[in-house]
Amino acid sequence: LTTAEQNVLDKIETEDVDFLRLQFTDILGTVKNVSVPARQAEKAFTEGIYFDGSSIEGFVRIQESDMRLKPDPETFAILPWRNDENSAAARMICDVYDTSTDEPFEGDPRYVLKSALDRAKEMGYTVNAAPEPEFFLFEEDEDGYATTTTNDAGGYFDLAPKDLASDVRRDIIYGLESMGFEVEASHHEVAEGQHEINFEYDDALTTADNVATFRTVVRAIAAQHDYHATFMPKPIPKINGSGMHTHLSLFTEGGENAFHDEDDEFDLSETAHSFLAGILEHAPAITAVSNPTVNSYKRLVPGYEAPVYVAWSDRNRSALIRKPAARTSAASRIEARFPDPSCNPYLAFAALIHAGLDGIENDLNCPDPVRENIYEFDEQKREEYGIETLPSNLGGAVDALEADDVIYDALGDHVAPKFVEAKSQEFEEYLIDVSQWELDRYLETF
Ligand code: GLU
Ligand code: MG
Ligand code: MG
Repeated sequence: LTTAEQNVLDKIETEDVDFLRLQFTDILGTVKNVSVPARQAEKAFTEGIYFDGSSIEGFVRIQESDMRLKPDPETFAILPWRNDENSAAARMICDVYDTSTDEPFEGDPRYVLKSALDRAKEMGYTVNAAPEPEFFLFEEDEDGYATTTTNDAGGYFDLAPKDLASDVRRDIIYGLESMGFEVEASHHEVAEGQHEINFEYDDALTTADNVATFRTVVRAIAAQHDYHATFMPKPIPKINGSGMHTHLSLFTEGGENAFHDEDDEFDLSETAHSFLAGILEHAPAITAVSNPTVNSYKRLVPGYEAPVYVAWSDRNRSALIRKPAARTSAASRIEARFPDPSCNPYLAFAALIHAGLDGIENDLNCPDPVRENIYEFDEQKREEYGIETLPSNLGGAVDALEADDVIYDALGDHVAPKFVEAKSQEFEEYLIDVSQWELDRYLETF
């Protein structure tokens, strides 16, 4: 066993851990667990834990269904909502291996992200990422089902007593911190019942693991307070939706921020400009991955601080990418504002990173920033500035993904076709549905 693995065994002993949840995600980003008694931890490290992959979305065909989970000891964490005096449950995030080849399984989203990070490494970079997931807290009805009723009327940065959910948020933060998160800030968001918790940047793989964990923790702790936490991007029409802004930067092997250039007007290096240009170039295809639900596109409309147009800015929040002010050279970064928290973070980060690296490799030219409010531009002005529009629905985004080799290939041979198939089907189901809006609008008129 490695030292890290031995440490896990020691902690299982000292913290009275009875159960281990071995965690991974399917291509849709849903967290899956295989629960084993903690005494199997050593075996999990030495041999791995076998499971039948055929029941999991996009994983394998029925006839090749045996998979092996290999836990990453660095991700060991005790689950704060399952920690009693003398019994606890812990989780570890796993890599998935194909038992027939004993190679990492290509359909594992964590592997897809690792491949993107390998490409960055070959180019001499490590990738840092920091997300800003937003979510709503809704009341549950008597039967414990989610409603869309918020019980607080707080707005941006409001404090108690209006912000009734701050107790829940505090418990969520304690929970996250006990699992090793460094929570940077948390606040009430613009909309009623909407919250945001930011965590400290880390390497992109750890950050993707953290996002997956974060969603589980937020939901579990909210439920303890009889709230339903949702990461659905636009649960209520006509108010802000929930985004997951993603801050990105590249560091060199020597630990320098490759995005920083103090002589540049925007404090961004050539590398950063090209990376940014790569994301702009591939944005329509990336949206299929970073905004992967039908509902995602109800958020990407003008007027609610979510981007609609493919442009960047050092000022305003209507742009797809923003350059946040940085106090130190290490903090120079770009903020992709289009992803939302319904995405699979592994795949979304992989798509963003490949797009950016492609921009660097091809030395793409970065357009000028747009400093005006792009929501207010008419079509003619957008044309004049050369500003494109994001896909307006999931179907359009999937088409863009299929037409973009860089992003399609970023997902890999296994995930890309399965992802397209799953999302096309989701969009088709939506298209044939008749919504309440249609009934309200047409039933009595015609
Ligand atoms: N909730 C907004 C969105 O949908 C973002 C608000 C903010 O700037 O934090 O992206
Ligand atoms: Mg926010
Ligand atoms: Mg932000």
